[in-house]
Amino acid sequence: MDYLPIFLDLKGKNGLVVGGGDVGARKAALLINAGAWVTVVDPGELADAYAGPKGSDRIIHRREAFKPEHLDGAEVVFAASADDALNKAVYEAARARHLPVNVVDKPEVCTFIMPSIIDRSPVVVAVSSGGEAPVLSRLLRARLETLIPAAYGRLAALAGRFKSQVRKHFPTTEGRRKFWERALMSPVAEMVFSGREQEAEHTLARMLEDSSTEVGVGEVYLVGAGPGNPDLLTFRALRLMQQADVVVYDRLVSPPILDMCRRDADRFYVGKERDNHAVPQDEINMVLVRLAKEGKRVLRLKGGDPFIFGRGGEEIETLREHGVPFQVVPAVTAAAGVAAYAGIPLTHRDHAQALIMVTGHLKDGTMDLDWDMLCRPRQTIVIYMGLKGLVTLCDEMKKHGMPASTPAAIVQQGTTINQKTVTGTLDTLPALASQAELKPPTLIIIGSVVSLHEKLNWFHPEPAEDDHWHTPLDQPAHM
Ligand code: SAH
Repeated sequence: MDYLPIFLDLKGKNGLVVGGGDVGARKAALLINAGAWVTVVDPGELADAYAGPKGSDRIIHRREAFKPEHLDGAEVVFAASADDALNKAVYEAARARHLPVNVVDKPEVCTFIMPSIIDRSPVVVAVSSGGEAPVLSRLLRARLETLIPAAYGRLAALAGRFKSQVRKHFPTTEGRRKFWERALMSPVAEMVFSGREQEAEHTLARMLEDSSTEVGVGEVYLVGAGPGNPDLLTFRALRLMQQADVVVYDRLVSPPILDMCRRDADRFYVGKERDNHAVPQDEINMVLVRLAKEGKRVLRLKGGDPFIFGRGGEEIETLREHGVPFQVVPAVTAAAGVAAYAGIPLTHRDHAQALIMVTGHLKDGTMDLDWDMLCRPRQTIVIYMGLKGLVTLCDEMKKHGMPASTPAAIVQQGTTINQKTVTGTLDTLPALASQAELKPPTLIIIGSVVSLHEKLNWFHPEPAEDDHWHTPLDQPAHM
């Protein structure tokens, strides 16, 4: 180890920054975040960046050239001027007094170096490459930022509030360690991360009262996986995917996304296969209840957003009835993802002021839609599950007064490398779509915004022959 990582307590102490430019301002902001007072030495004006951060009233500007007396009372020193000779002088003066000193971006004249920081106060993670590859530690930091929930600090604060109670209950260090391991691995942590702090507090109190109680019931994470491209997952979705014990998924979840779930998690497929019936929704609901009651963390993974044509509402109703805790993670719905990747803005001041999303699922060969509402001008209609009913859809819209020349598009496997867009009009789209032999899932977009596709199309994937979605139907999945 080339450097010893330590955390300095600078609350109410003084930090000295030499240099009034942007670089110095960044160091001053860090010092202020840590509760310090900051003296900035610079004979000139301070950069605007100094006025920005909260707490800039804790900055004292000494408008003079640096002299060693400026170090009086300082606990830590940053040399951040553009003048190398001055920085060196600051370094030497600080060394003479055995003060920790950092010359920004010059590890060879530093007694300490600054890490990349992930701040989830009171939890703080610091990453350093020992000055060898700062960009690498910044990249690592970015990865950690995605992995550590924003509310991690709140979990630590909650633990802090229980510290003395736990100490009373468990007089030995070993007993306390075991308790905290159990508590922090239990659903308490997820309760805090999903904003259910009171519930977390009650559960923790209960665990403490009866140290033998295991938190019996697991939890269901109802997670939207987005339209297919793994890049469009949310941080929260990814985190829950990587910690769940069981994954219950259907056919709309793309294989690369499924691959990102915890390797050793059990997987349950509840989607539809050709000639096979889907697992009925009631049964799926009960599978979720059963798994959670076994104490498992169950990931219910769905394509797109769970509350948009996803039956997510029905599933959590059953969970609520059975007292199973759950959380819902929203996602990019097909309309948003597919339209973005097809270069079709769903609203546009020159074209459409309203957006309607409907299901085009055929029931007994017809579509039960409010045609008059759909056929109004200056709006965009997005049709989910509409491939099979495309002919009916276009016919009905024309019958209800929509001009036959209205632009219309159908997009196959939007956002993935197999994305294919076919554009036409209400008149021509059905024939064009059938010629194109589209593979599901597909989304239909109708309205004048579709005419922008030609100009705004930006995503030109190279399709890979063997990488298609694993199911052949464009039917509503029982999600
Ligand atoms: N909950 C999902 C929708 C489920 S309904 C969501 O919010 O997106 C299933 C329908 O979504 C499919 O029949 C298809 O119309 C549409 N769909 C989902 N992903 C798609 C994709 N990548 N490309 C095109 N259509 C998609």
